[in-house]
Amino acid sequence: MTERLYEIDSHISEFDAQIISVTKTEDGYITVLDRTAFFPEGGGQASDTGAINGVSVDYVFMDNNVIYHCTKEPLEKGKAKCILDFDRRFAFMQNHSGEHIVSGIVNEKYGFDNVGFHLGEDFVTLDFNGVLSRAQLDEIEYEANKRVWQNVKFKAWYPSKEELQKLPYRSKKEIDGDIRIVQIENTDMCACCAPHVKEAGEIGIIKLLDFEALRGGIRIFMKCGEFALKDYRNKYENALKISATLAAKQNSIADVVLQLEKKYEDEKHKVSALNKRITDNIVKGFNTELDGVIEENFEIKELQMLADGLHKTYGGIKSAFSKCDGGYNFAICGDVESLDEFFKYLKTKLNIRGGGRNGMVQGCVFADMSEISKYFKF
Ligand SMILES: [Zn+2]
Repeated sequence: MTERLYEIDSHISEFDAQIISVTKTEDGYITVLDRTAFFPEGGGQASDTGAINGVSVDYVFMDNNVIYHCTKEPLEKGKAKCILDFDRRFAFMQNHSGEHIVSGIVNEKYGFDNVGFHLGEDFVTLDFNGVLSRAQLDEIEYEANKRVWQNVKFKAWYPSKEELQKLPYRSKKEIDGDIRIVQIENTDMCACCAPHVKEAGEIGIIKLLDFEALRGGIRIFMKCGEFALKDYRNKYENALKISATLAAKQNSIADVVLQLEKKYEDEKHKVSALNKRITDNIVKGFNTELDGVIEENFEIKELQMLADGLHKTYGGIKSAFSKCDGGYNFAICGDVESLDEFFKYLKTKLNIRGGGRNGMVQGCVFADMSEISKYFKF
């Protein structure tokens, strides 16, 4: 059994130990120490990383109470100087501890259980077996942050069987072996194996972000501490760029964007009315000896309108083309049978992506005009 220093003190970032064994595996080596502050993956929290005698530790896991440190390079038996990537671990502890506070408040206020927890490199999710509204989440978030401001204390210990029976603790699942209890002053009591902060002030901030429905319950996306600060910085940078571009105050960019969107919709309607007039004029002035027209900067929708207008006015198979990346966008209209046959033939001759039905086909042809003109009179 490896002595777990992270259970004695969650703030150990450097420690000395003895290397007991080193075993070669398929993709590196696994090393066992007599004692370790490296937390092995567990309880939804990723394993610690760091270095032993200067050799990188990429992953740590526990099996049968023995903790294994995975490295690419071999280590030798004897004395070990160990350093954790403590900034990473501390950010994990901030988020993990924030999760306990939120879960404790949700459980106390609404009676829902935390039924899932994921703590990854840059996002955290927690799942509850009941539905919560945005307004309720806002209240929970405020209450959770109040516990941070009150700097409530964390305590972890292994109670005796008798003591454990009397404790009102939350537990995600049946746990084999000794149960470790993590208690947060006036907030929560939960069975958990991972390291946490010592007092809530270390968490900094608890921010609930998005949420989504999940099997009759809810999944909440959350960021605490350093994760939340990075998120705030990122959002601030974005708001800053948008506000500079729109020449709008940061706190009113959403309103300005909504106004712009409305303006854009109005402009789109105007453009579409103009296009209709242009199309009508092209149809009116069409030289009936030709099979179609080539226009500049026409979208597929406009080409469809044009080909349709030409076919309806003059009959026969009529087409409209407009240059695009690597070729020409097109729309062709005609009577169903003759168009189907013509388009089938065209596909054997030209590199075409597209199709259609009911007397209209559209898409893109990857060829230059000299090639396309072999099949159309323009
Ligand atoms: Zn925990």
